[in-house]
Amino acid sequence: MRTGGGRGDLAPGAAGVLAVDRLDEPLSSRLVDLGAHAPKKLGALGIRTYRDLLTYLPRRYEDRRLLPIVAALEDGQNATVTARVLSRSATRSRRGLHVLRAYLEGPSGHRFTAVWFNQPWLEKQLYPGLDLVLSGRVRRQGGRVELSVTGFEVDDDEASLSFGRIVGVYRTDQATSQAYVRRAVMRLLEALPTLPDHLPRTWLERYGLVPLDVAWRDAHFPADERALQAAMRRLKFDDFLFFELAVLRSRDPARLGKSQPATPEDLERFESVLPFELTRAQRRALEEILADMAAPRQMARLLQGDVGSGKTAVAAAAMFVAVRGGRQAALMAPTEILARQHFANLQRYLFPLGVRTELLTGAMSAGERAAVRSRLRTGDTDVVVGTHALIQEGVEFRDLGLAVIDEEHRFGVTQRRALVQGVPDVLVMSATPIPRSLALTLYGDLDLTVIDELPPGRTPVTTRLVSANRRADVYRFVAQQVAKGRQAYVVTPLIEESEALDEVLAATGLYEDLRRILPASVRVAMLHGRMPQVEKDAVMASFRAREADVLVSTTVIEVGVDVPNATVMVVENAERFGLSQLHQLRGRVGRGAHESYCLLVAGDASRKTRRRLEALVKHSDGFTIAELDLRIRGPGDLRGTRQSGLPDLSVGDLVSDGEIIEQARGLAQAILEADPDLRAAWAVRLRQELARRSSAVMVREVM
Ligand code: ADP
Ligand code: MG
Repeated sequence: MRTGGGRGDLAPGAAGVLAVDRLDEPLSSRLVDLGAHAPKKLGALGIRTYRDLLTYLPRRYEDRRLLPIVAALEDGQNATVTARVLSRSATRSRRGLHVLRAYLEGPSGHRFTAVWFNQPWLEKQLYPGLDLVLSGRVRRQGGRVELSVTGFEVDDDEASLSFGRIVGVYRTDQATSQAYVRRAVMRLLEALPTLPDHLPRTWLERYGLVPLDVAWRDAHFPADERALQAAMRRLKFDDFLFFELAVLRSRDPARLGKSQPATPEDLERFESVLPFELTRAQRRALEEILADMAAPRQMARLLQGDVGSGKTAVAAAAMFVAVRGGRQAALMAPTEILARQHFANLQRYLFPLGVRTELLTGAMSAGERAAVRSRLRTGDTDVVVGTHALIQEGVEFRDLGLAVIDEEHRFGVTQRRALVQGVPDVLVMSATPIPRSLALTLYGDLDLTVIDELPPGRTPVTTRLVSANRRADVYRFVAQQVAKGRQAYVVTPLIEESEALDEVLAATGLYEDLRRILPASVRVAMLHGRMPQVEKDAVMASFRAREADVLVSTTVIEVGVDVPNATVMVVENAERFGLSQLHQLRGRVGRGAHESYCLLVAGDASRKTRRRLEALVKHSDGFTIAELDLRIRGPGDLRGTRQSGLPDLSVGDLVSDGEIIEQARGLAQAILEADPDLRAAWAVRLRQELARRSSAVMVREVM
């Protein structure tokens, strides 16, 4: 077994088999020997070209330089160990779960068991003599150790890339092992000459950046934390730099749009059908939006406000104004469920005003979609609500006056622009609590309006932190609420590896569990991201119609759903969620007249976990929570998440990357001031990279 894995063994291949300008060749060209099945196996992961492989970064990293020995494992601990399979056996639990146990021996000679649930196919794969790297939760009784496996790898490396170092963990599928991906990446890196840099040396030095070549190599096989962090910093810097370059180059503050003035009568009419009074903050937001719409300049505004602050009502007013002016309005939502819900809400606000609103989503039949498209073209429909289908199908409007885009961070600038053809006014809505300075930087091309007040009469959601051993109490409480006629959500997180599989497992496992724990009279329904759309819709509709009392779900309900009768949000394994994510989940209840509850069940009862989750018990404001999240988590996490292409980041990333964003933006501005068209000799590679990234985004968009 080799240790370390410093840069020494990752130096550019002397042969430089693969010239840099051939990185975009498909793996099937076999310019580099990655193994006979590489095109197929890696292709299944979406890796088609050598560049895809180079940029296929680990989802996270594990420090496997010093793995614990089995004898030192403590009860309740999450650990990664190496071991050899001695034997295995499969049984069925009383509840009918398939239980697979392997008997293993660690390197120090200690024996222990590992257990897998409901993965019968593993029985064949885990034959005696096989070496494994296993992660999971330790259960210890005296000298007996059992590991509940959350992830494992077969360690079939000749020269181990899989431990004795900081190891990247890639997204893989059942057919392809972690070790396989690591080996393929390593072979590619060995075949590549030093990658040329699109940034001149002086800038690298000024911004404290490592060269691109070092960054890519270290991002896959970091020698230590510092190398990993430097690599991430460089790659993120590039993401933001090109993002800012693209934004700045396409920005034209004087761009003429449509003048869409609102009359006082329009507003009065709108408010007269509203079932409530607008809050002061909503009124202020609406004024800013209407001023923009009235001006001949194209509106590009971000409407930011906590979950439930009433953004949709404000947007509806703006849409009404556009329609009153004889134009159309569109609302684009990130998911099917959200689109349907927005549609229902807009109908409520706009139908009494005679506005013709329609839905357009991918789940509708081709015939229905064509009919809606045709009515949009002729102007027989005033308002359309949809998902990506709105931009993917090249929808034509007779005269689009206002485009509203919900949950911006899921779309990205280019998609936003695609909807925006014909220069309508654009309103982006986001519930992501980002500090103002950062919002201005990240949404550099948008003006900002904040709704900083919740509608009156909301009782804050009572939030409790409960340890897993008191789960029974939690569900007793849920049953009580159901007996009172209320409904509840129960959300369970995904486990990172092989998400596709675990999403189903996690949801069905919990579903079955609850059917057992809860009284038989409680009707439990289930929703997960792998269900076909029609099924998801049916489940949501029946929950909304109170045909189910408890909705078990993976995080697909995270954004948006609005069921005022639901008063309890139970989050299982709450420690696996970020605070801001939990805050969003909590925002799903407390939407009606009844007192609401958020119960966070913490599977891991460590002090740090408790402290982090306590923040939600104490605070109800999204901005405060986002900041606390960052402060508590602190730096030093071995988290190397980086999304390729345009930034698409969680709040934590945004806050922690604030400095990089500022710097990248500064540099982008300086570059464009010096050379607006990137014509200079030094800018050749920069221009190429910008063009490549822009077109890559276009490709991604239509997929
Ligand atoms: P957001 O889009 O910001 O999450 P919504 O516009 O969906 O918020 O509003 C959340 C809920 O609050 C909806 O049920 C809506 O009818 C209601 N609501 C919005 N504005 C007000 C208000 N001013 N007073 C009372 N209820 C409101
Ligand atoms: Mg909303």
